[in-house]
Amino acid sequence: MRSHLLTGTTTREYRRSVVDGVERVAARLAATDRPFTGITPDALAPRVDAIDLDRPLGDTAAALDELEAVYLRDAVYFHHPRYLAHLNCPVAIPAVAAEAVLSAVNSSLDTWDQSAGATLIERRLVAWTAARIGLGPAADGVFTSGGTQSNLHALLLAREEALARGADPAALRVFTSECGHFSVQKAAKLLGLGPGAVIAVPCDHDKRMRVPALARALEECARAGLAPMAVVATAGTTDFGSIDPLPAVAALTARHGAWLHVDAAYGCGLLVSPTRRHLLAGIEHADSVTVDFHKSFFQPVSSSAMLVRDSAALRHATYHADYLNPRRAAAERIPNQVDKSLQTTRRFDALKLWLTLRVMGADGVGALFDDLLDLAEQGWKVLDADPRFEVVARPALTTLVFRWLPPHPTGPALIDRANLHARAALFASGRAVVAGTTVHSSHYLKFTLLNPNTTPADIEAVLDLLAAHADRYLEEESLVRVP
Ligand SMILES: *Cc1c(COP(=O)(O)O)cnc(C)c1O
Repeated sequence: MRSHLLTGTTTREYRRSVVDGVERVAARLAATDRPFTGITPDALAPRVDAIDLDRPLGDTAAALDELEAVYLRDAVYFHHPRYLAHLNCPVAIPAVAAEAVLSAVNSSLDTWDQSAGATLIERRLVAWTAARIGLGPAADGVFTSGGTQSNLHALLLAREEALARGADPAALRVFTSECGHFSVQKAAKLLGLGPGAVIAVPCDHDKRMRVPALARALEECARAGLAPMAVVATAGTTDFGSIDPLPAVAALTARHGAWLHVDAAYGCGLLVSPTRRHLLAGIEHADSVTVDFHKSFFQPVSSSAMLVRDSAALRHATYHADYLNPRRAAAERIPNQVDKSLQTTRRFDALKLWLTLRVMGADGVGALFDDLLDLAEQGWKVLDADPRFEVVARPALTTLVFRWLPPHPTGPALIDRANLHARAALFASGRAVVAGTTVHSSHYLKFTLLNPNTTPADIEAVLDLLAAHADRYLEEESLVRVP
């Protein structure tokens, strides 16, 4: 069995196994002509369930053969230009190479004696990101598992700061727009804030937080003797890519003495955009920022970070363990990241971004993100000119929210069902994958464009497929109803 452990004497087996895995993925990517096979859970589950985990195959090649049938053949492939659904990107090859390196070396980013250079590399990338944001000389931060954890971490710091100023825990309130991410609610729950602690501020027509509404909500909070713990502005809402008016939100937040967190999980790609960095103007006023490199920097899952303006705030998550990070080590100024993190053992995800920047450069990544912004604008023009569809808003980043409309007046319930059907039927065909959401309680379809290889022709082709499914649904419905 020791031959399966990676050591200095098993490097042949290591090479053979990893290259074999890489070859299979490469062959699969080269052969897939659609993002999905359309397999159903009912069809796939028996294959997974039939595998006896207590009877090993003893050989990586055999296990990879088996994996073809339970995973690789029917996976959802984000690299395909007609995968247009969620915030998933095709990944940068240097980052995939880094993934192989970091899992083989297996550094853990909690202490220096488990990571050495990895800690320094993560610190450089945290400093680089904070500088891009403009957080100032005292900034710091840490890599996390994703935007959900980054938001939780930031709100933990905000809560501790509010409590340190003497706020009553039951009086804490968090303000975010009605288009903000649900992880803010989840974080509030984990932090023990009450069920009404997160106040949803209405959005304008472009799905940006209404500043006068935020002002009113903050004033009401003050009048009621409650404590404004944090304002969470979103720089790139998940559905619309909309960016809250950051300078005005920052000014109001400061006036009320609250912590400003900017959730740029999606919009962080603008940090490296050669032409549209200005869309993030005001982000430099944040007390904390969430960035998801796995959304708009072409990084494999996971790669995210939480940055703070004042490194001292990170102390709220610092605990000392004699076995790991004793006070003595801090006094000796031995660098460690566990003092800043909610996690203990932690992946060296930063290496993926490091190799990406060292190969492609920030401008290279940003140019790809710019291509996506241009593609979204072209896609909006296509949709706006197409009488079969209604599009909600001009894209702020790279999403398009729209719905199919029938040629003749039809009830809203039927339109809803036709759109739901079109999305499901397209998924079942595997020819493209699109997302869905609701706007004013009606069902809409959504494209999230994160693949620079997607073309306007792909968008047109997917719209034709959706319209054909919706048309057919309407026809069948009318046959059922009018005999
Ligand atoms: C995706 C997203 C999150 C959550 O990030 P994960 O990496 O999925 O945990 C938070 N906020 C926004 C705006 C997002 O789009």
